[in-house]
Amino acid sequence: MLLQLRSCLLLLLMTQPVWPIVQATYTPTFDGSQAFVYLNSQCDFGPRPPGSDNLSLCRAYIVGCMTTDGWNITLQNFTYLGVPCVNIIGRWGSSDNACLILGAHYDTRPQADQESNPTNRTKPVIGANDGASGVAVLLELACALPEEVRGSVEFVFFDAEDSGNINSWQWIVGSTYYVGQLSSDRKTTIRAMILLDMVGDTNVRLLRETSSTKSLQDYLWSIAEDIGHNGTFLDDIGASILDDHRPFLSAGIPSLDIIQHNPFPSYWHTLEDTPDKCSAGSLEIVGQVLETFVVQYANNTTSFSQDTGFLAYVPLLILLFVVCLVAYSRLRQR
Ligand SMILES: [Zn+2]
Repeated sequence: MLLQLRSCLLLLLMTQPVWPIVQATYTPTFDGSQAFVYLNSQCDFGPRPPGSDNLSLCRAYIVGCMTTDGWNITLQNFTYLGVPCVNIIGRWGSSDNACLILGAHYDTRPQADQESNPTNRTKPVIGANDGASGVAVLLELACALPEEVRGSVEFVFFDAEDSGNINSWQWIVGSTYYVGQLSSDRKTTIRAMILLDMVGDTNVRLLRETSSTKSLQDYLWSIAEDIGHNGTFLDDIGASILDDHRPFLSAGIPSLDIIQHNPFPSYWHTLEDTPDKCSAGSLEIVGQVLETFVVQYANNTTSFSQDTGFLAYVPLLILLFVVCLVAYSRLRQR
């Protein structure tokens, strides 16, 4: 029985993904202060709900930044509940089979429904952290990534993520539309999707979002630790978040949501979500981890089995519990 117990423990240990230690041979060039310029510029357009003129101006700004850095842009137009929406897709050269999707939503919430003052709850939010921060990191990454890895990446800026439960809208509308348009062939060529959402808080702290693909999360978290950012990418379990990575998970694509949550920042979905709550230093930490990840990832053939996050370990834990129970009862019988 003890042998059984020992082999069971060994089996449990072996199922934990063990990533090779990442050699610090690459020095990221991601510039947090430039990313903060991107964050401020988006906020300067004002609140950016779907279908608004402000969002159109912000879209033109994102497209301008991306094309300046040499990326080819495709605008994916669709209509939702009568409102015209647009996902922005950035590809390198003629490549339309990148193995890694990097995403963030660029719309902002139409109403500050978490405001303590009821009269403010129908006003739109600026979305410095909730919206602009993820986009800012992606825009600086589009500039910082070495040219030789750019063909491995597709950037997607999602529209219509953050209007859920307002005027009968659903959440994550843009990403749902994007995944719905993928051919089955294309789905098999995407090896991973990484989403950035609310990554700019001055005291950014990132827990492990539990619906994300754990092996992909382990890989990125190990890179964060190797380059000294485990004070931000905390090895603590968070919660399951409904966000733009979900349609990708549903399509069988390994996906990771990098998001400050559990709790969300106190100003989340209020009028206080303004640039002064964010910092260049926080954007730089997240950007450097992501840049290092992309460079490592583009240079190997790692693929991530889609698992069900932490739920994948439940059967093993149950088995271990039963074995221990049997062993204990046998010992008591002696
Ligand atoms: Zn939001």
